[in-house]
Parts: sequence; structure tokens; C-alpha cells
Amino acid sequence: MTDLLYLEDSNVRTFDATVERILEDGRVVLDRTHFYPEGGGQPADTGTLRVDSDGEAFEWPVADVQKRDTVYHVLDLEAGTDSTDGPIADVLEPGTTVTGELDWDRRYAHMRYHTAQHLLSAYLLEAYDAPTTGNQLYADRARLDCAYERFQDDDLATIEAAVNDLIHDGLPVRWYEFERDVAEAELDLERTRIDLLPDSITEIRIVEIGDADDPFDRVACAGTHVQSTADLGTLEITGRETAGSGEERVRFRLLE
Ligand SMILES: [Zn+2]
Repeated sequence: MTDLLYLEDSNVRTFDATVERILEDGRVVLDRTHFYPEGGGQPADTGTLRVDSDGEAFEWPVADVQKRDTVYHVLDLEAGTDSTDGPIADVLEPGTTVTGELDWDRRYAHMRYHTAQHLLSAYLLEAYDAPTTGNQLYADRARLDCAYERFQDDDLATIEAAVNDLIHDGLPVRWYEFERDVAEAELDLERTRIDLLPDSITEIRIVEIGDADDPFDRVACAGTHVQSTADLGTLEITGRETAGSGEERVRFRLLE
């Protein structure tokens, strides 16, 4: 399994790695990666993979990243600067050192939106007893589904103001790994939602927002986040709709 470097440090934009495997369709497996694979409502990172081969430079766009048995970087072979006079496997053979570079504007936007989603989820649970049931974020907007009958306009205004207060407080954001059995014994399961994770996961990654002694939010999450809520700017709720029986969908965006 590829070493998921972004779990520890989400601020790295460029990294070196070694090719472990290349498939004919352009999917590449590396020994380590900072590319986030799509999951948990957060889209995959994009960027480039570069390699110097006998003094010649090759570069391909990383169009998608997917996690299955391991992490697959999906290269856009048509758009690459491959000389195309030989198979890609000749350049990216196992053992080759490559340089990965993330599309940082896109990744950083995902980090901001993901952190904002945690704040919104925590506030909706605390103030409305409305647990989050799903979320999808993009680089310019996001939506969150929660179990709640119906938010009125004044509810949305209250929620928006409360989340912006939390943003402007500049709360610290931290993450760390926990053994699953310890986490299940010590943490609030309704909030952390550990019980929703597959049994195969034995190490839980916890993301915390607020004071270390009494965090405002503490949840199991494998996504990428910013380190202070001050980086979120201003949250604007752009709408709501029914997402099913007893389910509300709230749409929001972040202004600088
Ligand atoms: Zn998260």
C-alpha cells in the first residue's frame, strides 16, 4: 500500500517518489504520495508527474487519483510531453524516481472547504441535534446533508453567523492517529462516527478543532484540512433543499 504522506503533512506541494507499478492504461502506483485520492466527499488532487530519463524530461498531467487496493495516479497520456515513440512503461519503469507536483490552488481550496464542513457539521449537531449524513465539496462550493426536518430562513442566518464566529475565533485544527479500540473506548462515538468505518480500519485518524483540553469538534476523518479556522475567510450559506424524508441539504461557499 502506498504511503499516504498527506495524512501527516497536508502542506507539501512537491515531492519525490519511486514508481512501483505502471499499467498500460496510464495508471501509476508510487511507493509514497501527497496526491489525495477521491474519498469522504473530497475530490482527488490533480497536478503533474515529472521524470528525467537519460537527460530528457517527461511530464504528464495527473488527471485523477483513486484508492483501491492501493493508490492509482491516473495520467493523461494524450496530454503528456511523452515523445510517444515508445511505451510509457519504458520511461516510468519500476524503480524510477518521479517528482509529483500538486495543483495547489485546487488542493488548498479543498482543505478550506473540508475544514468548513467540519465546523458546520459540529455546529448543526450541537445546536440543532442534526447529525451529518453526507457531504460533497468542490474547489468553489460545498454541500452538506443532515438529518433534520426543515431549516427556516432565520435558522440559516443563525447558522451562518455562528459558524462565522467560530471561523473568526481562529481555532486551531490538529490531527493525529489513534488505535481503533482506544478511540472507541475514549471518544464520543456519535460525534466521531467511528462506527461507520469498515472493520478493516484499525488505526483511526482524528481531526480536532479548538482547544486541546475541550475541542469544539473531534471526528474521524482521512481528508486534508487547514491548520486554523482563520484561513476559511467568510462562510456564506447559499441555499437549502430537501434531500429526502427528514433530510436537509445545505449549500455553502467560502468568500476570501
Ligand atoms: Zn475532514
